[in-house]
Amino acid sequence: MQPGLAVIKSAVRALRAYSLSPHRASIKINQNENPWDAVANVKAETLRRWESRKWSRYPDFVSTGLHERLAEFASWRPDGVIAGNGSNELIQALLMVTIGEGKRVLISEPTFALYRQITLVLGGEVISVPLNSQFQFDGTALFEQTQELKPDVVILCSPNNPTGSVIGDDELRKLVRSASGLVVIDEAYHEFAGHSVVPLLNEFENLVVLRTFSKAMALAALRVGYLLAAPALVTEIRKAVLPYNLNAFSQTAAEVAVEMYETELLPLVRSIINERERVCRELSEIEGLEPIASRANFMIVRSLFEPKRVFDELIKRDILIRDVSGYPMLSEYFRISIGTPEENDLLIGALIEIMS
Ligand code: PMP
Repeated sequence: MQPGLAVIKSAVRALRAYSLSPHRASIKINQNENPWDAVANVKAETLRRWESRKWSRYPDFVSTGLHERLAEFASWRPDGVIAGNGSNELIQALLMVTIGEGKRVLISEPTFALYRQITLVLGGEVISVPLNSQFQFDGTALFEQTQELKPDVVILCSPNNPTGSVIGDDELRKLVRSASGLVVIDEAYHEFAGHSVVPLLNEFENLVVLRTFSKAMALAALRVGYLLAAPALVTEIRKAVLPYNLNAFSQTAAEVAVEMYETELLPLVRSIINERERVCRELSEIEGLEPIASRANFMIVRSLFEPKRVFDELIKRDILIRDVSGYPMLSEYFRISIGTPEENDLLIGALIEIMS
C-alpha cells in the first residue's frame, strides 16, 4: 500500500467518494435548485448593505443577527438556532458530536447520500429501513427498529430526497417519543410541501430540524443552512462548528432573503409547486414513463428505457437530469428538478421524442 494510506480508516478507504456527474447543460435540473436566480431585490439590497461593510474584518463570531431573524422566521427561539455553511456542515457537526465507533444512525433509504457517508467516515454504523413500495415512510418499521436497535441518531429527510415523500406528524410524534437518541428531520424542501415539523420542537427536546437556503430561497451559491433544536442541544452541537463558519456576505444575503421571503420568494415557490403538478400530469401521459407524485421541487420518474439512456439522450438535447438508478430501489428511475415553465416544456417535449 502507498505510504500514508495505511493510516486512513479502513471504513473510509472502503467508501466511494460522494460525487456528482461533471456534465454541463443549459437546462440544469439535476440538483433541486431554484430555477429562478436569486430575486433582483434580494441581490440589490444585499449589495447595498455591503457598500459600507469592511472586508478586512472577520464576520461575527456567532451570527447573532441572523440567528434572531431565523428564529423569528421559523417561529423558534434564537438560542436554539445554529447557522452554517450550508446544511451539509450542520449534518456533519451534528454527527461529529454524536457518532463514533459503536454508535448507530438509522436512516430510511433511498435518501440523501450524505447521512450514510458521514456516519461511515466517523466510524459509525448505518441501519437502513427501506421506504415502502409506494416510496412512503414505513412508520411501523421505523418505530420497531428504533425501539429494538436504539439508534443514537435517526435522520429522516422530509420531503425526502429523491422521492418527495413526507412523514406525517403523528407518525413522527410516535417515533420521537420512542427514541432514546436524537431524531433529525432534514427539511431542505419543506417550503414546497407547505409543511414543517418545527412546532414539534416545543414538545420534544430530542428533535432536531435542519433547513437550507439552497433550494426555495435560491441562494445555493452562498452556502447557508440552519439547525433548530433545544438550546442545551444546540450548545453541544455548536462545539463541532468552526469559528466564523458562515462568511459575512452570505449572512447578509440570508438576512435579506428572510426579510423579503413573503413578497419576493413565496410567489416563486407557489409557481414551482404549480409547475410540479403540471409536469407530473404531463409526464404521466407519456407512454413508458411513470412519474411518482412528490411534495418537493423534484420527482423521480420510472422509465421503460434504462435511466442512463434517458440521461444520455437528454444531455444531447442540452438538458441535465440526475440518474438515480444506483440508489436502493431505484434501478428504473431518474430524477428531475422542476425548472421554469419554459424549461419544463422543453423537457416534456424532449421526453416525448425520446420515448416514442
Ligand atoms: N439535505 C438535503 C436533503 C439535500 O438534498 C441537500 C442538497 N442536495 C442538502 C441537505 C444540502 O444543502 P446545503 O446546500 O444547505 O448544504
